[in-house]
Amino acid sequence: MSRLAVVCGGSRGIGKAVSCLLAERGCRVAVVSRNKDVAQATVASLHGDEHIGFSCDISKEQEVQKTFETIQKTCGNISYLVNAAGINRDGLLLRTKPEDMVALLHTNLLGSMLTCRAALRSMLHGQGAAIVNIGSVVGLKGNSGQCVYSASKAGLEGFTRSLAKEVASRNIRVNLLAPGFIHTDMTAGMREEALKRSIPLGRFGEPEEVARAVLFLLESPYITGEALVVDGGLQLAM
Ligand code: NDP
Repeated sequence: MSRLAVVCGGSRGIGKAVSCLLAERGCRVAVVSRNKDVAQATVASLHGDEHIGFSCDISKEQEVQKTFETIQKTCGNISYLVNAAGINRDGLLLRTKPEDMVALLHTNLLGSMLTCRAALRSMLHGQGAAIVNIGSVVGLKGNSGQCVYSASKAGLEGFTRSLAKEVASRNIRVNLLAPGFIHTDMTAGMREEALKRSIPLGRFGEPEEVARAVLFLLESPYITGEALVVDGGLQLAM
């Protein structure tokens, strides 16, 4: 049977591009997001007909547990997990509401911890399972106006490297992919003309360009605990 890939946040943006690429490469894809209709629409657009959409808020432990149990029951053991679900709430720290801090940390950091935890047992049965967590270049470098978002992504990096050590003996690999500015709903309202002047390659990236790097990490049997930056050179200028 073909490999099963679970893509959290797989309905839009970077996660959708990852879902499309994995489906093209012959994986069965479980697309997870809060909005079931959007997840189903993405599933319908994927190559092949063995894919399923799931509605789940990854920041809620019970929903995550139930969803992953259903995935394993209906689709089998998980080979790949991609954590692309994320939110941003940009603003200076003094103006950031505590409820926005909680939402950022619960979705971007706790959410990925919960999905990794829920997927691991199923991954133990697979041959060389792999996880890719989507961090951010601002988690590595920091950015004014993104203190909490950046902290959530820096936390994800530490989590990724630690989990990589924890599960390496079971031949499960865990890596982080840190994008720069990518054309998705998340960046739609940003001042692109001004921002792209700080990017050495002079443009925002496309979700498909990130997806190719995610696939590379998933399929590279000797890479674990690594953070791969896909940012058009942005971090060189930060
Ligand atoms: P989008 O806003 O385009 O897509 C976000 C995806 O996550 C959607 O599928 C959304 O579906 C899902 N999602 C959000 N919250 C939850 C939740 N609580 N539970 C389940 N699913 C959720 O974002 P991007 O594709 O741009 O971002 C993907 C990842 O890449 C994020 O982690 C982001 O932080 C990171 N990133 C993005 C960059 C960019 O420039 N775009 C740069 C650096 C990092 P739904 O709303 O239906 O739940």
